[in-house]
Amino acid sequence: MSELFNAFVIEDEGGKPKGGFKQLALSDLPDLDVLVEVAYSTVNYKDGLAVSGKAKIARKPPMVAGIDLAGTVVESRSPDWKPGDRVVVNGWGLSETQWGGYSRFQRVKPEWLIRLPDAFTLEQAMGIGTAGYTAALCVEALENWGAIQPGGKEVLVTGAAGGVGSVAVALLAKRGYAVTASTGRPETHDYLKGLGATGFIDRAALLEKGPPLQKERWAGGVDSVGGVTLVNALAQTVWGGAVAACGLAGSSDLPGTVLPHILRSVALLGIDSVMAPAARRAVAWARLARDLDPAHLAAMYEVQPFAALPELAEKIVAGQIRGRVVLDLN
Ligand code: NDP
Repeated sequence: MSELFNAFVIEDEGGKPKGGFKQLALSDLPDLDVLVEVAYSTVNYKDGLAVSGKAKIARKPPMVAGIDLAGTVVESRSPDWKPGDRVVVNGWGLSETQWGGYSRFQRVKPEWLIRLPDAFTLEQAMGIGTAGYTAALCVEALENWGAIQPGGKEVLVTGAAGGVGSVAVALLAKRGYAVTASTGRPETHDYLKGLGATGFIDRAALLEKGPPLQKERWAGGVDSVGGVTLVNALAQTVWGGAVAACGLAGSSDLPGTVLPHILRSVALLGIDSVMAPAARRAVAWARLARDLDPAHLAAMYEVQPFAALPELAEKIVAGQIRGRVVLDLN
């Protein structure tokens, strides 16, 4: 194939990241074993930081950005994959140390690929993306810890109207947990109710620093905000409960005390999706296939053209994206 195709590349400009669309050829791509024709990618918070240049995500520029991709295998030097296989890649350093999904074609390592569950189209796979798969890892961690019970005390989801938050609300509600959504956008309440949230708390209430131990309210939580929000979530969690922390949309600080941990056995479960082993990924995607109602998924995302990427990146960093965005690279 000799044609050129479109990609979004981060370059180094005087020590600062600067992104832009570029035409690439297959010969420009890394020499890895599986060539994928990318149909869709997506815009996660980390992508927003990378594309807008607000954080130095690409560590080896020039680098194709995009932490996710969904597409079809075109060529494979691995016995595990053959042309026509529908695949997804989430994380594994894409857009940080490896070329990512914002490219019509990309070459990847065989072990990064997930076989897309039959339940999902390629578009839906990116409706989920890293944000949704991380939400599934969080719910998995809370259940494995034994912190939450269907029909039991409430489970808190912070940053609820964002990507991780929306999918977490839907997955938890489907399993019968009472979900309280924390959002700074009251206009998203109907949307979140539609996904299964039954309670709401204004995010401002969690942004004010409270005492180290507060009224025990949550059986557990999924936190994508960090900072004082996470500290308050821990301080309001019941004895033996747990909060799965995956994000820093508010802050990367953790300005709290050990008291919830040592006086109430509250666990802080750290969730990293990027280097999660294949077995955990498979479990998370199986959960998504089982528990994510297609109607809920459809309500969660919008499809945008690849060309809209720079504008969408600014919006997600400003907290203005509701749910998820799928990028159409077809
Ligand atoms: P989104 O921007 O879609 O969602 C983040 C949400 O956080 C916003 O919608 C908003 O929710 C809330 N928020 C934003 N700014 C603030 C603030 N200053 N104070 C309080 N709340 C705020 O991002 P994603 O869902 O894609 O990602 C969420 C976080 O999770 C990011 O920090 C991201 O880097 C992290 N992440 C981590 C992963 C991992 O592997 N650990 C994987 C995926 C994501 P609302 O409007 O409802 O208040």
